[in-house]
Amino acid sequence: MYITLKDINKIYPNGYHAVHNFNLEIEKGEFIVFVGPSGCGKSTTLRMIAGLENISSGEFLINGERANEKGPREREVAMVFQSYALYPQMTVYDNIAFGLTLQGVDEDVIEERVMKTAKILGLTDYLDRLPRALSGGQRQRVAIGRALIRKVGIFLMDEPLSNLDAKQRVTMRSEIAQIHHETGATTIYVTHDQTEAMTLADRIVVMKDGYIQQVGTPKELYFTPANVFVAGFIGEPPMNFARGTVKNGCIAFGDQQVDLSGARKDCAALEGKEVVFGFRPESIVLQPQEKAVKMRSMVELTEMLGDYTNVYITNGEQHAILKVDSHDTPETDQELEFYIPWESIYLFDGQTENVL
Ligand code: ADP
Repeated sequence: MYITLKDINKIYPNGYHAVHNFNLEIEKGEFIVFVGPSGCGKSTTLRMIAGLENISSGEFLINGERANEKGPREREVAMVFQSYALYPQMTVYDNIAFGLTLQGVDEDVIEERVMKTAKILGLTDYLDRLPRALSGGQRQRVAIGRALIRKVGIFLMDEPLSNLDAKQRVTMRSEIAQIHHETGATTIYVTHDQTEAMTLADRIVVMKDGYIQQVGTPKELYFTPANVFVAGFIGEPPMNFARGTVKNGCIAFGDQQVDLSGARKDCAALEGKEVVFGFRPESIVLQPQEKAVKMRSMVELTEMLGDYTNVYITNGEQHAILKVDSHDTPETDQELEFYIPWESIYLFDGQTENVL
C-alpha cells in the first residue's frame, strides 16, 4: 500500500478533538476525495498528511515506512491551496519554475520541465505574463503547475476551486481530472462539494464531526450509502427521508400506508421498528409500475431546470422533492400519483441511522 493512515487522531492544543480514529489505505495513482460539511476535519487530515500539522496519535506510513516525524519536504508531497499564493512580481514561467530554481536544478532541465508542465496545463502562451494579467482559472493552473513540476509522489489539494466562479469551476474540474489522467499522480483532494467529489474521485471519504462515515467509489456511495448522513450528502437534490414505524409490514405517512413487504424480504423482522424511509428524487416514475409502491402527494411548487424539473410535494406533514422529465411537469396545487420502485427504497434504523 502506498499511503496508510492507521487510527489517526488530531487533538489541537486547545483540546479540540478534530479527527477521530481515521483509517484509510491509498494505492499509488488513486484520486481520493475527502468530502463533508465545513468543520468536519478534512483540512486537518490533509494538513497532517502534508506534514503541516502534527499527528496526535496513530501511524502514518508512506511506502510502508513511518512518516509521522518526517518534515513536509521529506514526505515528497506537493500541496495546492485555495488561495493560489503566486508571486505577483514573477512571470508565470518563474512562478512554475520557482521550486526547482530554489533546489538549484540545471537551467536546461528547468526549461524542459516548465515547458512540459505548461503544455499539460494549457499555459504555453502565458509564460511571460504576470499573475495579475491572468484569469482566476489560469492562476489556479499556475498554482497547480508549480506543484506538478516537482514530480512528487503525492499531490494534495485543499478546495482548489473555491475561488473560481461557477463556470470556471466546471472547466477546471474537468482539467484536474485530465491532469490526473495524464500524470497518474496519487492525489488527495479536499472539498465540501459533493459534485466535485462524485466527478473527480476514484474513491470518496465522507466525513462528519471528525469521523469517517463511509469510504467508497462514487457509485458505492450513491447506491449503497451506509447511513442517513451519507445518503443525504451524496446526490443532488438530496435523498428524501421520512420517519415512521413499521406496523403490519407497512409504514404510515398521513393517511397512506406504504407496504414494504415487496421491497423487503426481511419485512417481518422489521415489525415495530422505528425507521427512516428514503428514496431519491430521480428514482421515481410517474407511470404505474409493477414492483413499486404507489404514493400520492400535493404538488406545492415546480422548478424547471432545463431537461428536468424539480417537483416539491407534501402530504401536510412530510415534504419531498421529485425529479421529473420537464415534459411531464405536473400542475401545482394538484394531487400527484407516483411510484417508487422497490429497489429504490432505502430503510435506515430510526435510532442509529445506519442502513438496514
Ligand atoms: P474542514 O476542512 O472539514 O472544514 P477543519 O479540518 O479545518 O475542517 O477543522 C476541523 C475542526 O477543527 C473545526 O471545528 C475547526 O474549528 C477546528 N480547528 C481547526 N484548526 C484548529 C486549531 N488550530 N485549533 C483548534 N481547533 C482547530
